[in-house]
Amino acid sequence: MSVRLASRMGRLGTETAFEVLVRARALEAQGKDVVHLEVGEPDFDTPENIIDAGVDALRSGWTHYGPAAGDANLREAIVNYINGSRGTSFSADQVVVTPGGKPVMFFLMLALLEKGDEAIFPDPGFPIYQSMIDFSGAKAVPIPLREENGFRLDVEELETLVTDRTRLLIINSPANPTGGVLERSDLEAIARIAVEHDLIVMSDEIYAELLYEGEHVSIATYPGMAERTVILDGFSKTYAMTGWRLGYGIFPQDLAASISKLMVNSVSCTSVAVQQAGLEALTGPQEKVAEFREAFRKRRDLIVNGLNAIPGISCILPKGAFYAFPNITGTGRTSREFADLLLQEYGVAALAGTSFGAAGEGYLRLSYANSEENLTKALDRIGQAVKDLKG
Ligand code: PLP
Repeated sequence: MSVRLASRMGRLGTETAFEVLVRARALEAQGKDVVHLEVGEPDFDTPENIIDAGVDALRSGWTHYGPAAGDANLREAIVNYINGSRGTSFSADQVVVTPGGKPVMFFLMLALLEKGDEAIFPDPGFPIYQSMIDFSGAKAVPIPLREENGFRLDVEELETLVTDRTRLLIINSPANPTGGVLERSDLEAIARIAVEHDLIVMSDEIYAELLYEGEHVSIATYPGMAERTVILDGFSKTYAMTGWRLGYGIFPQDLAASISKLMVNSVSCTSVAVQQAGLEALTGPQEKVAEFREAFRKRRDLIVNGLNAIPGISCILPKGAFYAFPNITGTGRTSREFADLLLQEYGVAALAGTSFGAAGEGYLRLSYANSEENLTKALDRIGQAVKDLKG
């Protein structure tokens, strides 16, 4: 019997990284050596003090349901961190703690969008943005990010995409998959457009601590923006806590109440012991964050220099996050063909740029959250693949 699904399921997308991981693991099971550059997570273990806090929490009774919006002390610590690092003045009741940053997208789009609405999202961008806009029934409108513009969005182009139906604009800086960073002048212009057209802006700032030059600036700090910005952030990337599932959103007051209601209706609350670990992450020593960032910076330089040394491949220097997004058009292959070839024949798992939207054609995404040894091995193999193609 085949189950008849609700039509909305036909509109739900996915994240290719997990599919490529499965294919890579299958090759490994056959004895093939694969370098994993597909999944976007730090290769470091969670710092000890955070693990201890999680274990202690379980041992001391943090095993019951908690408030849907999150533990009061954690919400306070989050708002202190955000206000301190961004220069905003949000209050703790605007924070909703969620199992990872991803549910912030899911809940926000369910709460905000419906058929007849439009939402603008970056292309190439995190694939769940489009997936969730489509799922909500709204129209997903891509704004292309171009290499010649440092993968920043073009503000004039944005203006042409906004209609009287646009409700939501998504920005992500530093960005997945490009490592691009929006400049102050971009943010200022985007804020002006958002205020003028009464848009909600979801500002995905999950890579804010992984910025290699300058200071992270949030769009929430621009005039009229605090009341229309949703900041998405979390613990996965900053503290190497992807598997713990801990993130949060800072919402305009009314939206925070609606998102809490979605929490009650879905997961009740985020794991309370995990939230205690998060409290330690934010209020305990921060040296590891800087240590991770410096390790990523070294690896970024290694992979970008290595890619640029391969004829037919060029890569601009990513300013943040832990992804390189090389241009591979010189290989004569499409993104998909080249990614498949690298995995099947050369043992390098990478993602086609098109996994992040149509504008990703001609690019690959390589996560450099891997050891220098593995990155060097991957570079050798990519170099060999290009040589064999040309030979
Ligand atoms: N936003 C971006 C741009 C991401 O790349 C990711 C993870 O890959 C997330 C949000 C969600 O991360 P998590 O749900 O682990 O907090």
